[in-house]
Amino acid sequence: MGTLEGRVFNADGSRTLGAIKVQIDLNGDVFLTTTDANGNFTLDAPVGTHDLVIYSGSGRIFRSVSTITIEEGKTTDVPMENTKLNQVANLAYIPGAYDKIESIIIDSLGYSATQLSIADLDNLSYMQTFNAIFLNCGKPGYLDSAKYANLSAYAYAGGSIYASDYAVEYLTGDGYYMQTPPVYTAHSHSSIENPDKSCVGDVGGFISDNDLCTEKIGSTGMVSNVSIIDIALQNLLNKTTIDIDYDLGGWEVIQLLSSNWQILLQDNTYGYGPLAARLYYINPATYYQSGGWVTICHIPPGNPNNPQTITVSVNALQAHLDHGDFIGPCQQDGNILFTTFHNHHQGNISHDVYDVLEYFILNL
Ligand SMILES: [Zn+2]
Repeated sequence: MGTLEGRVFNADGSRTLGAIKVQIDLNGDVFLTTTDANGNFTLDAPVGTHDLVIYSGSGRIFRSVSTITIEEGKTTDVPMENTKLNQVANLAYIPGAYDKIESIIIDSLGYSATQLSIADLDNLSYMQTFNAIFLNCGKPGYLDSAKYANLSAYAYAGGSIYASDYAVEYLTGDGYYMQTPPVYTAHSHSSIENPDKSCVGDVGGFISDNDLCTEKIGSTGMVSNVSIIDIALQNLLNKTTIDIDYDLGGWEVIQLLSSNWQILLQDNTYGYGPLAARLYYINPATYYQSGGWVTICHIPPGNPNNPQTITVSVNALQAHLDHGDFIGPCQQDGNILFTTFHNHHQGNISHDVYDVLEYFILNL
């Protein structure tokens, strides 16, 4: 055995990245660690020359592979050119009036994303050239049933969707529906109109109002002591709560969330409940194996109580299946992410919220 030490960076080497997987897979025998908040890792693995795989999330969007040699009893520093996390798939975003997630993807993380228009949602095959589509709050137009059908098909085939605040309208409807002439039914239901906070579903959308229903009734101000439910995010931030400043007037409060959603951040103080959640909206039969890589639930031989969701080369797949692994994540991890808060370019967000948004981007 020997040891690898290194630090994972973004593609241009200007930033370190936490919560990134660093892995060597020796024909089904997996040596795996995760970078700490400062991007550092230490990995013990058998001697020899191996593929070192560095990835985040499913590895479909951000992944780097390099060759590394481990020497008996020695600690080898992995050079920076081997530890830059590369973008291996295309990202896209639709701009919004109140949010600018692309500023974090492009300006902060140094990755690339293509700007789309609402009209591009009419073209499913074009949408599918992107592995994730980011939908900003304050969308620049209305959707119709064809666009919702394409968003549904896109996500069901494994595309990831990120939507913040008012962009929930891409998921659950914006009140607009294709009729001749088109009819627009206002979405907003104020707390005065709807004092009991019962949820009024919107026309349109591809996610049922029984799965997710929101109302624009959030108050301006700080929501402090938000519980971080997601364990990897807890580890990355090294804390269990954060404060979120909702400094715009009004935001989409989740009124109804089915158990199909996995809650990532939750308010227990102000009565708002879930503030960010992830939905598994994938056809597993077609999703998990593509481009030579496959996401599996690895059940370590000799340590079966510690299953790990990892992404491996298809060349190693049979060895994993032979010791009882299965294709797909150990727990459904979700490809549609909705946050009630965002990175609007007019104001300041806290460092913690910035880290949370970076984590969401890297783990779609
Ligand atoms: Zn395995």
